[in-house]
Amino acid sequence: MDILLFGPPGAGKGTQAKLLTEELRAPQIATGDMMRAERQSGSELGKKFDEYMSAGKLVPDDLVIELIRKRLSQDDAKGGAIFDGFPRTVPQAEALDALLASMGRQIDRVIALDVPLSAIVERVVGRRVCLDCGQTYHVSYNPPPSDGVCVSCKGKNIVQRKDDTEEVVSTRFEQYEAMTQPVLAHYQARGIVKVIDGVGELEAVTARLREALGR
Ligand SMILES: [Zn+2]
Repeated sequence: MDILLFGPPGAGKGTQAKLLTEELRAPQIATGDMMRAERQSGSELGKKFDEYMSAGKLVPDDLVIELIRKRLSQDDAKGGAIFDGFPRTVPQAEALDALLASMGRQIDRVIALDVPLSAIVERVVGRRVCLDCGQTYHVSYNPPPSDGVCVSCKGKNIVQRKDDTEEVVSTRFEQYEAMTQPVLAHYQARGIVKVIDGVGELEAVTARLREALGR
C-alpha cells in the first residue's frame, strides 16, 4: 500500500508516520532526509544534489524522482511506502504518479491530519526540549521537573526552542496550507483522500488513522 501523509508542521505527523511504518511494514520516504544522505554518500546522484544545494537552489523534480525510484526498488519498499514531505506541488504529484505507474503501483490513500492552528500553537509554544538528549516536555501536559534536571539524562539544559513561537508556527501553517491545497485537490479528484481529526490523544488519532486505512 502506497500512502501519502499530510499534516501541518507541529501536528504530530512524524510520530504518526512512524506508527504507520510499523503497522504497514512499509518504510517512510522522507525526501529531505534522503537527499541529505545521498549528498553525503558522494554517489553520482548525490553529486548532482550537491551542485544545487550548495548554490542554494531547489533540486529539480526529476532528480528527486530518481532518488525515490531507487528507494522504492529496495526490498523493504516493494510492498509499499509512506511518503512524507513529497509531493509538495501538482507537477511533483504527477511525476510521482507516473513513477509509481511504471512500477505497477499507485497512491492508494492520501491521509491529511487536520489540526487547527490554535491547537498547534498550544502544542508548540508550550514545548520544552532537553538539548542534551532530545527529551520533550510540555508546560501543561508533561511539565519539566521544577529543579530543571532532565528525567532522561539528568542534564540541566531544558529550553524552549527559538522557533517554537506563535509567529513562526503561524507562518509555517499558512505556507503549509497554501502548498497542500492544490496537491490534495489533485488526489481528491481520484476519491482517495481521507481527512482525519488530528486533535486529541496520540492513541485516539492513531485509531482514526487505522480506520481511515480500513484496518
Ligand atoms: Zn535530557
